[in-house]
Amino acid sequence: MAHILRLSALAVLLLSACCWADSELQEEDTAEELSVSELSVSELSVSELLERANSHLSEFRSDNDPILIEGDIAIDSEAERNADPCTSSGCKWGKASDGKVYVPYYITNHFSSREAAIITRGLESFSSFSCIRFRPTQSSDRDWLSIESQNGCYSFVGRRGGKQVVSLARSGCLYHGTVQHELLHALGFNHEQTRSDRDNHIKVLLQNVVSGMEHNFRKIATLNQGSPYDYNSVMQYHRYAFSKNNQPTMVPIPNPNVSFGNAKEMSRNDIARLNTLYKC
Ligand SMILES: [Zn+2]
Repeated sequence: MAHILRLSALAVLLLSACCWADSELQEEDTAEELSVSELSVSELSVSELLERANSHLSEFRSDNDPILIEGDIAIDSEAERNADPCTSSGCKWGKASDGKVYVPYYITNHFSSREAAIITRGLESFSSFSCIRFRPTQSSDRDWLSIESQNGCYSFVGRRGGKQVVSLARSGCLYHGTVQHELLHALGFNHEQTRSDRDNHIKVLLQNVVSGMEHNFRKIATLNQGSPYDYNSVMQYHRYAFSKNNQPTMVPIPNPNVSFGNAKEMSRNDIARLNTLYKC
């Protein structure tokens, strides 16, 4: 009798284990994997995370993927390489009569609920320090961000018209600062090291840059709005970005030892210049 009882207890245990497994195991597994990988990269800056996530992209990219320059900026054709659509044709998002700038977005079903929550937190962070309001798309929206998990982390610069992809690959791009970085591109910002006044603040060492990657250090006739060059901008790449020999590709001047490119989220300057650009 005791034997039978023990057996049926075991059966109940097995049964319940099976049902939990059906409903929750998959999601738990994913969550665990994410937290382990998050721990190991928690020390990395946004710039390092982007480089890591995008480092092997060329092996996986298809003809349908946009061309990427400067690591994570998407363009439609090679001809755009030297153009900054924001300064030449105005790519800001429009301001509503209530003074807010509503930017419609749609998060595709590529993400788990936990991943979507990281994206939403990044989107919502903007409403705490600016007049930018990312909001879910409505049927009347003409221009909108489609947030997808494509190959790597990337965004176009500024409002492009119609649907524009912001890619936040599930492997490697889902961090608060990375989400903010890509959204700043979509709002019209370029990398800090491409600022028109960068030569007064950093020295670019092209001799250490991977051959063919020199274009990542081109200067752009950026609209700097009187904002200071910011070593702690979430848009500043790190000292060894695109290095071919483990030597720095950028050093601050005049003091080469100043720390830079280590931001993990938007800096005070990033926020200030966003508010200036959009007259928040
Ligand atoms: Zn970028």
